[in-house]
Amino acid sequence: MKPAPFAYKKPRSLEEAVALLGEHSDARLLAGGQSLIATLNMRLSAPSLLIDINGLSGLDGISHKAGMLEIGALVRHVQAERSDVITKHAPLIARAMPHIGHAAIRNRGTLGGSIAFADPAAELPACLLALDGEVEASGPKGKRTIKAADFFMGLFETALEPQDVLTAIRVPAAGKDTRTGFAELARRHGDYAIVGLAASGRADGKGLADVRLAYFGVGATPVRAKNSEAALARGDIDAAVAALDLNPHDDVQATAKVKKHLAGVLLRRVAKQLMEARS
Ligand SMILES: Cc1cc2nc3c(=O)[nH]c(=O)nc-3n(C[C@H](O)[C@H](O)[C@H](O)COP(=O)(O)OP(=O)(O)OC[C@H]3O[C@@H](n4cnc5c(N)ncnc54)[C@H](O)[C@@H]3O)c2cc1C
Repeated sequence: MKPAPFAYKKPRSLEEAVALLGEHSDARLLAGGQSLIATLNMRLSAPSLLIDINGLSGLDGISHKAGMLEIGALVRHVQAERSDVITKHAPLIARAMPHIGHAAIRNRGTLGGSIAFADPAAELPACLLALDGEVEASGPKGKRTIKAADFFMGLFETALEPQDVLTAIRVPAAGKDTRTGFAELARRHGDYAIVGLAASGRADGKGLADVRLAYFGVGATPVRAKNSEAALARGDIDAAVAALDLNPHDDVQATAKVKKHLAGVLLRRVAKQLMEARS
């Protein structure tokens, strides 16, 4: 199918992009286009204007400062996948990147697009939640920061306001005690996950502290398994699996019962990764 007709503008500044969003209430931002263009072609959306943000400068950097790693919204998946800075300071994101789509999609898709789109089966929103990260957005009133825990509000629904442009994400930079784990089950490598799990924690003596387990593919948003986090911090993997209180629904990929079972399988895999030396 072909998309419905739309106008196209390519602003040269963030202020111009925000102003255009204000002037056209049904406009959509175009980043990598890997999700948006599919929805247009399937006529799931028909905006009158596409605002191409690929000409905005300063949104494609990856930097480590003040204990945080900042990744610009226009960083492509492939750029993140190959970044030594991300491998060193955000090993969880590095673990997740190869699971996102296929090479052609990672060549164009952006980290900002993935977070803003908020697909419930996507890897990066869960990583952001597991890392207790944050989103930076610019709108008519200037910049604001939104914690990941407050950002993902519902199915494809985020805390971004209609005139907001997501400009960057930030996560605490990994230290020597940081532990991470990532696993997903998909029908084929690169497909959206049936169920996935992104996890972070801190080595604490022989155990773990600050464990954060963020599942994806089991609800409308990434979901933390808080009861299991406490059990895992005690080193009790069986209790962590038993404590899983996820409430997935049947979807085209699997039944809720299968998803719950797979969530337990992934928890055992990820627990081992978390307990390994520096990961
Ligand atoms: C076949 C296929 C398989 C895929 N598999 C996976 C997968 O396994 N895992 C996964 O996570 N993703 C997957 N994707 C999606 C891919 O990761 C996309 O790149 C991503 O979801 C959206 O990024 P984008 O830059 O392409 O955004 P776009 O498609 O350009 O935009 C997506 C949405 O986000 C909005 N948006 C984009 N950037 C911003 C911004 N800076 N501020 C505010 N709003 C913004 C747009 O207006 C639009 O509504 C797949 C895509 C395809 C086509």
